[in-house]
Amino acid sequence: MKKILVLGGGIGGVEAAISLAKEFKKKTDYQIDLISDRKDLFIYPLSIWIPVGKRTPEDVSMPIAEIAAKRGFNFIQEKVERILTAENKVITSSKEHSYDYLVVAIGGAKLKPKGVENTLSICGGGDEAVRIRDRFNALVEKGSGTIACGFSGNPKDPTAVRGGPVFEVLFNLDHFLREKGIRQNFKLVFFSPSEEAGKRLGEPGLKKVQSLFVERQIEPIMGKKITEFGTDGVLFEDGTKLETDLTIFTPGMQGNPVLANGDLPRTDAGFIPINDFCQVEFPGTAQHKPSNCYAIGDNTAFDGPEWRAKQGHLAEAMARNTAKNIALREEGKEQTATFSEHLNIMCVMDLGKEAAFIYRDRKRAMAPTGKWAHWSKLAWEKYYKLNKNGKVPNAPV
Ligand SMILES: Cc1cc2nc3c(=O)[nH]c(=O)nc-3n(C[C@H](O)[C@H](O)[C@H](O)COP(=O)(O)OP(=O)(O)OC[C@H]3O[C@@H](n4cnc5c(N)ncnc54)[C@H](O)[C@@H]3O)c2cc1C
Repeated sequence: MKKILVLGGGIGGVEAAISLAKEFKKKTDYQIDLISDRKDLFIYPLSIWIPVGKRTPEDVSMPIAEIAAKRGFNFIQEKVERILTAENKVITSSKEHSYDYLVVAIGGAKLKPKGVENTLSICGGGDEAVRIRDRFNALVEKGSGTIACGFSGNPKDPTAVRGGPVFEVLFNLDHFLREKGIRQNFKLVFFSPSEEAGKRLGEPGLKKVQSLFVERQIEPIMGKKITEFGTDGVLFEDGTKLETDLTIFTPGMQGNPVLANGDLPRTDAGFIPINDFCQVEFPGTAQHKPSNCYAIGDNTAFDGPEWRAKQGHLAEAMARNTAKNIALREEGKEQTATFSEHLNIMCVMDLGKEAAFIYRDRKRAMAPTGKWAHWSKLAWEKYYKLNKNGKVPNAPV
């Protein structure tokens, strides 16, 4: 019996386990195990509606055990503590697991700038999104306040930034306050140390965000380095302070700290370098260079255009390619599935009752906006859940 071990039950890991189960369906001598620390698959793109009360954490979570039972893989809820590729072994909080192939999809972690504990991030999962909702609701009850939303990157890796969801939360808070008729009592601020936050979205996407700031009276503070976050606001390098009642901030990303305990190669920012087949790239000097290790999704470092980004649809494309490549190798063939042709920015940036469909690839960039785009995000929610449960086929990504 050959064992394929997938680590991480997020968008990438769950899709990898599903795709592997599909590829090896007719073969009885393969076992596919997915290890994750949380019992649920958390659908991050939908969590942007938690702060305005349109969704709960339960609405945007799917029990992995149920998906596993329907799609034909094993789910093991354990926390990975060490990955030892020299021994084909993964050590978790309770046991050791050996493998023939390994697929690492444990996501990234956030940098910790000074005073970040005084802020809340939309990228921190269900509990943190609920804390944003509760703090926002308290301000709505009070009737006025200053809310600042911002993000920054990681100078060691240009892909380690998460700006789209921060814009979505900001525009959804604005929409909520307008619907209540109390927007004029609130000051909304967007801040980022980058001069052109959102540039990665492409020219039309950047222009759209900038015009929305004007239309919706959101004050931008851009190009000012952040020194520290306090309980009552943000301190900037030029000595100025933005007083806030609520600071929502997403720092740049770095690699998952668990990787430091093992022998997988890591970039300066802590991500796993991979090639176009999603195979881990061990450095030329490494004595041990296994070919049976793959990594996908947010925990990877990969080449491509300077605007490339870590996104959910890319994690899914990487997952499907990895499954295909492992299946090809097991048939004694060369692996052929590459993900570089899937490198694009695709983001339905929700604005409340409409959305901007932001798209960028090597040839084009666009940002059409309308109610239809908001409905398309709602349709994606239905599709995604049905798809993971095996009720509708994969949409092309
Ligand atoms: C708020 C938000 C909105 C987003 N919106 C969009 C969007 O609209 N479109 C888009 O394409 N992308 C979007 N993204 C990005 C997208 O969600 C990520 O790129 C995607 O989730 C990456 O998937 P992943 O499987 O690599 O990592 P994750 O989804 O982070 O999953 C990692 C998994 O590993 C588990 N894990 C971590 N450490 C361990 C450990 N030590 N042991 C065991 N398990 C562990 C975690 O619990 C988690 O289940 C958004 C992200 C956020 C945060």
